[in-house]
Amino acid sequence: MASFSRDILDRILSQVDIVELISRDVTLKRAGSNLLGLCPFHHEKTPSFSVSSDKQLFYCFGCGKGGNAFQFVMEHDGLPFPEAVESLAARAGVELPKRGPDSGDDSHYQLGLELLARAASAFEEQLAGQQGAAARTYLEGRGLPEAMWKKYGIGYALPGYGFMRRCFGADTKVSRLLDEAGLVFQGKQGPGDRFRGRVMFPIKNQRGQIVGFGGRVMADGEPKYLNSPETKFFHKSDLLYGLSEHRGEIRGRGQLVIVEGYMDVLALSAHELPIAVAPLGTAMNAGQIRRIFQLCPAPVFCFDGDRAGRRAAWRALEEMLPGLLAEHEPRFLFLPEGDDPDSVVCGQGRQGFVDAMEQARPVLDTLLEGLRNLAGSGAEAGARVAKRADAMLARMKDDYLRQAWRQVIERDTGIVLAQARRPAAVGGEAGKQQASSLDERFLAALLQKPERLHSLPSAAREITLDDEGVHAIYTRAFSYAETGDDLDERMISRLAMDFPDEQRLARWVCTEKINDDEFAGFLPALQAREIKRRRKKNPGDLAQRVALEQQLIKTKQQRRGADAHE
Ligand SMILES: [Zn+2]
Repeated sequence: MASFSRDILDRILSQVDIVELISRDVTLKRAGSNLLGLCPFHHEKTPSFSVSSDKQLFYCFGCGKGGNAFQFVMEHDGLPFPEAVESLAARAGVELPKRGPDSGDDSHYQLGLELLARAASAFEEQLAGQQGAAARTYLEGRGLPEAMWKKYGIGYALPGYGFMRRCFGADTKVSRLLDEAGLVFQGKQGPGDRFRGRVMFPIKNQRGQIVGFGGRVMADGEPKYLNSPETKFFHKSDLLYGLSEHRGEIRGRGQLVIVEGYMDVLALSAHELPIAVAPLGTAMNAGQIRRIFQLCPAPVFCFDGDRAGRRAAWRALEEMLPGLLAEHEPRFLFLPEGDDPDSVVCGQGRQGFVDAMEQARPVLDTLLEGLRNLAGSGAEAGARVAKRADAMLARMKDDYLRQAWRQVIERDTGIVLAQARRPAAVGGEAGKQQASSLDERFLAALLQKPERLHSLPSAAREITLDDEGVHAIYTRAFSYAETGDDLDERMISRLAMDFPDEQRLARWVCTEKINDDEFAGFLPALQAREIKRRRKKNPGDLAQRVALEQQLIKTKQQRRGADAHE
């Protein structure tokens, strides 16, 4: 994956106004120093989505999403970081330095994409032409009318060899591009067309660029479906068919269904359900699932009701566990054996599938069922289930969800999963939370007014903040402060770039302002904590103890001084 220099990211951010960016999708009203609106990422009636114009960050106090303009585009458009950067760069008119997997040979890469787009047009022309009659009949027979061909760019590849050469000529540069794009293969008699006598479905990446094709035979023939091979454009396991085409509808309706293949995606769309996406013949991986959740927190995963379908569901469940949050509501739908979404909508119409979708069950049901199947009878069986469940729960990052699931699993299986508890943090949950709130408020106060960093004595550097993430941000902010030139709003955007997963940054900035008096009390309190800890760790050394006692008295006086201000 290409990386971008901080300089270029800075430039893009400085050209984009986050308020303007977000205003296109969210109505924002001024509330104090920030702007407030209804969150686009979760359903709510009262606004908790806050945008800071001077810090150029957003944060939702309802669902916890937050960050800078890049994060907004990533979340909102379901784009990975590099694509979000490109999208914002294009909007801001900032030219990005060359990138692309082909060792920086960007224009060559671009030519490949153009070639793929031109190939798609050529296939479309053939579908509309004389030789496309059988393909047109086939598509209509599958319930896909002409409007659908246009919408999805469906085409037809002529039988026999030589079509690509007739389209693009035979010079070596073009041949090389065709090969790299997976449109031809190298045979004994030279390059040959990979797709012959097939209905062609262009496959787009998230940015809507055609990166490959799926081809389906119309009569008997093997393989029934043929996809582009892995190329530098086409990475099967990264792609989801329909994602680019349906992103807007999925967001608008808050509905998404994952189906097996592109014929299912198209059949649903033909029945006014343009909300489906499909992997390209591979099992869903964690990256694809993450993208699905970014787009829709309550997706329906559709599987065949047979054994293979159950296995696929279990695999999807395992892939999804680590990233699953309490806010997500994925459901699994098992269609009757022998049915697929295509056959359901064609047989029972739109409503038939909508009804089926309503029958979809929470993923936890699938987990419980899988565990029950594993159980069988006897004491060993119980141990087996406990082990398996422990291992699965341990992979979950959301503590609340894990806890809730553990209770349900214990109730359902009658097996106590003692080990499923993660090792508790030293000092217990409550202590940790309290401490981190002092730490967090301290850091929030610094970020709200970066100039406060300058007012801190050098001893403030020695403070250890409890939360590792908070401490890392603190040290980084300090090092920016020392270089001196970044003590303005740019510091926040730099921190946001250095800690892209730290949504707390955005929350701190958007949270209500911490006044100078409260701020003045933080450092003495933190120092006192530090001294107490050191004293506890090292009780034997008398001289050091005396020194620490004296320090403690001093900080207590400082604290009283700070309190007296209030
Ligand atoms: Zn929200």
